[in-house]
Amino acid sequence: MGTLWVNGKIYTLNKEGEMSRAMYVEHGRVLKMGEEGHLRRTYAGRIKDIVNLEGKSVYPAFTDSHIHLIGYGEALDRIDATETTDLNTLLETMKQKASGDDWIVAEGFNDRLLGEMPTREMIDAVIPDRPVVLKRVCRHVAVVNSKGLERLGLIHHTVIEGGKLGRDDEGKLNGVLYDAALDLLHRELGGNREKNVASIRRAVDSLFAHGIVGAHTEDLFYHGDPLETIQAYEEVLGDVPFHAHLLVHEQVVDQLLQHDALAKRPRFDFGAMKIFVDGSFGGRTALLTQPYTDDPGQRGIEVHRPEHLEALVKKARSYGMNVAAHVIGDAAAEQFIGLLEKYPAKRGTRDRIIHASLLDDNLLKRISALPVLIDAQPIFLSDDMDLLFDRLGNDRVDNAYRFKSMIDTGALVLGGSDAPISTVDVRKGLYAAVTRQSFAGSGALSPNERLSMYEALRSFTYSPRVATRSHGRDGLLIQSYNATFTVWENDFFDLQGQDILNNRLVMTVVEGAPVYEADVITT
Ligand SMILES: [Zn+2]
Repeated sequence: MGTLWVNGKIYTLNKEGEMSRAMYVEHGRVLKMGEEGHLRRTYAGRIKDIVNLEGKSVYPAFTDSHIHLIGYGEALDRIDATETTDLNTLLETMKQKASGDDWIVAEGFNDRLLGEMPTREMIDAVIPDRPVVLKRVCRHVAVVNSKGLERLGLIHHTVIEGGKLGRDDEGKLNGVLYDAALDLLHRELGGNREKNVASIRRAVDSLFAHGIVGAHTEDLFYHGDPLETIQAYEEVLGDVPFHAHLLVHEQVVDQLLQHDALAKRPRFDFGAMKIFVDGSFGGRTALLTQPYTDDPGQRGIEVHRPEHLEALVKKARSYGMNVAAHVIGDAAAEQFIGLLEKYPAKRGTRDRIIHASLLDDNLLKRISALPVLIDAQPIFLSDDMDLLFDRLGNDRVDNAYRFKSMIDTGALVLGGSDAPISTVDVRKGLYAAVTRQSFAGSGALSPNERLSMYEALRSFTYSPRVATRSHGRDGLLIQSYNATFTVWENDFFDLQGQDILNNRLVMTVVEGAPVYEADVITT
C-alpha cells in the first residue's frame, strides 16, 4: 500500500527541465512518476493515501556538503552574536546568562558590525570574574577575557604553531586568538556523549526544517573523545532518518583507526582525512601569494609548515585515505594542489578541496587534471562581498568563488554552508550562486561565474550524494530512488533575485515519511 502525490511540479533534477505532475510512492521509494490518471489506473487497489500538492514544487531533498553539525547544534543553544552591533549589550546579555563558573560563550560576532575588534580589556570591564569567549563568525578567530587566558594557560611567552596570539601596542596579550590557538579552546570547552547527543538532535531537527536531510560534517576533533562523539552519532541516527558523512580530522585519525571505529554504519559513514592549510579572509589568515590589499604587511598564515603538511598527506595515503583540506587563499591552494599532484589519490577516489575561495586560471587548469571534489559555500560570497573587496582589491576579487569555472574543470562541485559559520538556509546558497550579488541585491561579483538554478540545485542535492556514493538511491527523484524530497510554495525555476530568498518550505519528506511540516498558518 502506498501514497499517490498529485498535482505538483515534481522535478527529478536528472535532466534540466524534467518534471512530472504525479508520483506513486511505496515502502519509501518512488515506484513511478507520470500523469495522475495513468498512475491511478496502474496502482488501483494499492493506493492508500492521496496527497494533493496544490501546484507546489517538489525537488530531491538537500544535502549540505560542508557543515560542523555538532558545532551548529551547540550554536543553536548559545548566545547568538551574529547580528550584534554593540559589544556592551552583548556582554550584559552574557553576564545574565552565566551560571556556575562555566565558560560563557557567544557565537558569531562580526567586528565589522561592532565597529572594532573586541579585546580582553573590553570584556574584563563587564565580566571580570568568569571565563568568557566570543567566537568570530569565521570560527578562525576568538576573543577571551583575562580569566579565559588564565584558564587556557596562555601567558606572554606562549608560542603557538599554526596559530597566533593577538597583542596590543605594548606587546601584551589582548585576548584575540587565531587559528591553531583555538584548538586549546576546543579542548577546554570539550564535550561529552550526552552533550553531543543533544547537539546532534537539535542540529538535525533544524536541518529538517530547512529541507536538509544529509550532511558532510567535520566534528570529531572538537567535542571531547572522538570515540564518544561517534557513539553520540550512533545513538541519534539509530532512530532519526538523517544521513551523515563524517570527515576525520588528522589529529584523531590514529586513535580511531586503532579502535577500528571507522566502519560504515546504516545512517553514517566516514570520509577523507581533514587538514587545515590556512585560515580565513576575515582574520587575514588566509594564505595569499600577494599581500592583503588592506594590510600590505600580511600574506596570511600557514597552519602547518610545508614539510609537516606533506607528511600529513603521506600519512593519509599510507592509510589508504583521501584528503580533505581547508584551503582559502591562492597560496594555500597552490600548496595543496602541488601535494595532490605529487601523491595522487587512489584510482577511482577523490580528494576534497574545501572552500577553494581564490583560484586563478593556472590553478583551475591544474585542478582539471585532478580527481577532486570542491566544497563550495556560495553564501560566503553574498555574506562577505564588502570584506572581499577590502581584503583582495578590485582586480584580485575576480578570482574569488569561481563556481562556474570550477564546474568547467570537471571537478564535482558541492554546495554547503559551513554552518555554524554561515546559516544553513539553502535559499541563500541558491541565491548567491545564481546572482553573485550581496543579500541586499547590490553589486555582482564576476557575473560570468554565475550558475544556472539547475546547476545550483544539483550542487545541493545530487552532487553531494555522488561524493558519498549514495547516488544510486538518493539525490534525484526518479523511479526506484528513495522518496526523499522537499515541497516548496513556489518554483525555484520561476524565481529571480531576492524572491528566491522568500520561497517557503512546506514539507520535508524522507523515504516517504514527513520529517518536517510547516505550520498551516503563514506568517
Ligand atoms: Zn568548516
